[in-house]
Amino acid sequence: MKSYKVVEFGKPLEKVEATPPEPKGTEVLIRIATCGVCHSDIHLHDGYFDLGGGRKLDMGRSMKLPHTLGHEIVGEVVAAGPDAGDVKPGSKWLVFPWIGCGECALCKNGDEHLCGPNQALGVSRDGGFSDHVVVPHPRYLVDYGDVPDAVACTYACSGLTAFSALKKAEHVSDADPILIVGAGGVGQSAIGLCQSLHGVAPIVADIDPAKREQALALGAGEAVDPSDKSARKELLQKTGGGFAAVIDFVGAASSTEFGMSVLRKGGKIVIVGLFGGSIDLPLATVPMKAITISGSYVGSLAELEELAAIGRKGGIPQISVSTRSLDEVQETLDQLREGKIVGRAVLQA
Ligand SMILES: [Zn+2]
Ligand SMILES: [Zn+2]
Repeated sequence: MKSYKVVEFGKPLEKVEATPPEPKGTEVLIRIATCGVCHSDIHLHDGYFDLGGGRKLDMGRSMKLPHTLGHEIVGEVVAAGPDAGDVKPGSKWLVFPWIGCGECALCKNGDEHLCGPNQALGVSRDGGFSDHVVVPHPRYLVDYGDVPDAVACTYACSGLTAFSALKKAEHVSDADPILIVGAGGVGQSAIGLCQSLHGVAPIVADIDPAKREQALALGAGEAVDPSDKSARKELLQKTGGGFAAVIDFVGAASSTEFGMSVLRKGGKIVIVGLFGGSIDLPLATVPMKAITISGSYVGSLAELEELAAIGRKGGIPQISVSTRSLDEVQETLDQLREGKIVGRAVLQA
């Protein structure tokens, strides 16, 4: 078993060879076919998330080193523990990585992805920058049908994040349009999914002209530049008073402020991006406009199953994926950090 591990935060990953572990209890040992490289892997590698304004979220406590990152995993069953039921060796699955403690109220409600003392693969437990991974229970294995491995693995994080955020957007119709702020990787997944889920083409706001062009190619109804002084007024006019739902895939002060400024009465803003910063919110506008401010973080096992079912029926527009070998994981992380990767980068073990 070959794994690339974080041995020291921020230092290059180290290749470690070992014998694959024997699955115990309900555990399943998976031979990895593909693993996506996610932007959050950079932050986990650093050992902290930058929350903006000089504040940091320290990951050092939940992650014991040496640690294998990687949470977008597809692979085949090699062996299963004695209590894992009849999971078949050789069967291929998409792995739900956002595993919880199984004991708390969130976990019992099916919101394992929000569990504090989590067991998430690639975060708390060893993940997919390896050729094998141990999954604690076969219930985390999701059927992805004929979707290519390199595409299916991205459902586990970027796809699920887009899907769960879109599900939180309410009242979306032709008459009650939706605005997507930020057309980076996750925002792009959301553009195509919006049509599948809500039956409408979203309006997209992004300051980058290249991303606006990509958004239109992916099916956005319109793409606007939020830094344009007249954008806000034009959107308010076009929508007859604002959007029913805004999804902010950036999560910076400027993107959230823009999103809030074009929200209609009774509207909902869903903040997904982790860019960081803070805004000055006049509190009386919350009840007076009856708005909802919601956060969305990855998604639940039930949502991943729902997303994979849409994927199996061909309902998820393909995002651009570039594949490379597992041995190139460090270069891939470096390129991602430098913003040199278009679409999603996926490792093949
Ligand atoms: Zn991710
Ligand atoms: Zn829990």
